[in-house]
Amino acid sequence: MKKISDLLIGTNNKGKYREIKDLLPKSIKTYSTANFKLKSPLENGSTFMENSIIKSKYFSKKTKLVCLADDSGLEIDLLNKNPGIYSARWGGKKGDFNKAIKRVYRELFKADKKWQQKKIKARFVCALSIFYLDKKIVSAIGKVEGYISNEPKGNNGFGYDPIFIQKNKKKTFSEMASAQKYKIDHRSIAFKKIKKFL
Ligand code: IMP
Repeated sequence: MKKISDLLIGTNNKGKYREIKDLLPKSIKTYSTANFKLKSPLENGSTFMENSIIKSKYFSKKTKLVCLADDSGLEIDLLNKNPGIYSARWGGKKGDFNKAIKRVYRELFKADKKWQQKKIKARFVCALSIFYLDKKIVSAIGKVEGYISNEPKGNNGFGYDPIFIQKNKKKTFSEMASAQKYKIDHRSIAFKKIKKFL
């Protein structure tokens, strides 16, 4: 397959954009959705994979560039895997993650008053898809297992990072340096599977 020289990073989320840019080889010239002033498409798929395909296809068609898009989120077992594909939507229209995190805690208390005494299993999931100019698509999934912290901790990262602790670790993703988190998280696991297609 021909190597890609130009690539659109199909996300309007600054945290994801920074991370994906960091994962990509420096030889690829990247573009952001902000360069084209593009809004995000309606995510009406029922899985991370479907939504990542919707985004990569949409942004590629709008820009005529090969597009790498991400759909990701946090699954919490006690909440029947919610917020899951609704992770961004729990932050409301303005994407307020204090609000989303408050909702996680509210729902956990609703499901089990003593949840803080238990290990609440959770995982971050990331689907990455590349939409090519000949309309071919490749996708990959990455997951990182862990549990929910009893309280938000740390100042780094974005989204649900302050409340997620990886299995066998003590620190939340927000307490880790970004470079450290990028090495082990769901996005980098998916990226390792898909990078041969770039
Ligand atoms: P979407 O894929 O743009 O629909 O949004 C996914 C949402 O999941 C983000 O807005 C974040 O809140 C959350 N999310 C995905 N990946 C991460 C991560 O690495 N850290 C923290 N939150 C994440």
